[in-house]
Amino acid sequence: MAEEMMNNKQIILKHYVEGYPKESDMEFKNNNIKLNVPEGSNVVVLMNLYLSCDPYMRNRMKNLEDSYVESFTPGYPITGCGVAKVLKSGDSNFQEGDLVWGMIGWEEYSIVTPTQSFLFKIDHDKNVPLSYYTGILGMPGITAYVGFYEVCSPKKGETVFVSAASGAVGQLVGQFAKMLGCYVVGSAGTKQKVDMLKSKFGFDEAFNYKEEQDLDAALKRYFSDGIDIYFDNVGGKMFDAVLLNMKLHGRIAMCGMISQYNLKKTEGVHNLLCLIAKRICMKGFIVSDHFHLYPKYLEMIIPQIKGGNIVYVEDIVEGLKNAPKALVGLFYGLNVGKQVVLVSRE
Ligand code: NAP
Repeated sequence: MAEEMMNNKQIILKHYVEGYPKESDMEFKNNNIKLNVPEGSNVVVLMNLYLSCDPYMRNRMKNLEDSYVESFTPGYPITGCGVAKVLKSGDSNFQEGDLVWGMIGWEEYSIVTPTQSFLFKIDHDKNVPLSYYTGILGMPGITAYVGFYEVCSPKKGETVFVSAASGAVGQLVGQFAKMLGCYVVGSAGTKQKVDMLKSKFGFDEAFNYKEEQDLDAALKRYFSDGIDIYFDNVGGKMFDAVLLNMKLHGRIAMCGMISQYNLKKTEGVHNLLCLIAKRICMKGFIVSDHFHLYPKYLEMIIPQIKGGNIVYVEDIVEGLKNAPKALVGLFYGLNVGKQVVLVSRE
């Protein structure tokens, strides 16, 4: 690869965002990049292949103080999880031609420091789609694994409720719970997604939360004896209604609160008293604290994928230019399954 300047198309965040994000908050721009490793540097030069659209990225569009994630810098490319190919490397752990996933720029080429980008080398089995490293074999996959098995302490026969159940994380949580022999119900925002939960992922029941006037009544319809485990992806009114329906000694994994990310002032919760009365264990978690479990997770999940016991639905859009639209779509439920952007083929 020559060291001359290359064109590098990028997605730039124009300004901090209030309310629902819009495509116009981001800009598709042509920039230049020199694809070389400076003398003595340990950076890695990447050609980006797949980008992952993730709800937490919305929070990075805010001017955050004291948060577990850093704000994006207006005027610069946004960053997120993605899959890339190593073009050049100043780090002996990575060689030209390696496939990796980790934190990369929303651009055609990125120059990253492996530790800062938590780059994982991909041992690519051609029977598994490479894009899966943005989802089931990447960050959302470990999230579902840690959140369900570690945080929820599930047992066979328990009742499990998953919100945003057809998404990148939710579809896996539901399938993990079914593999363990739990009764699993999911909520989602369209009929297509509700049907998919039952026919594709094997949920016992599913409902469209947007069509329910009374979420408490909807939950009672599916959990006449209550919920042992709630995997919360949405927060807000659904979380409040779930509290009323938890069983004694139930567990709640606080994974995400997408219903709150675009609000200026987050909604209040009214039913927290249930935590005491029902001796509920509720725990928040951040996936990056658990990355050491990644090899163990891969060992478990790859045979399950190959054996057809676990399926994964992706929603892949082509072209970096379309990445802002795909990201914004998460907050309107436009994605069906894991939202991925194909930037370049391997
Ligand atoms: P996803 O489910 O693939 O996509 C987001 C989905 O959320 C949308 O498709 C939409 O589906 C639903 N949604 C959007 N706005 C909503 C609202 N106002 N109320 C209810 N549902 C809404 O996303 P994901 O990657 O799997 O992430 C799921 C959750 O996990 C997010 O909250 C995310 O922040 C969190 N997460 C946490 C960690 C961690 O380390 N703790 C890691 C990864 C993800 P519907 O059509 O069903 O509404």
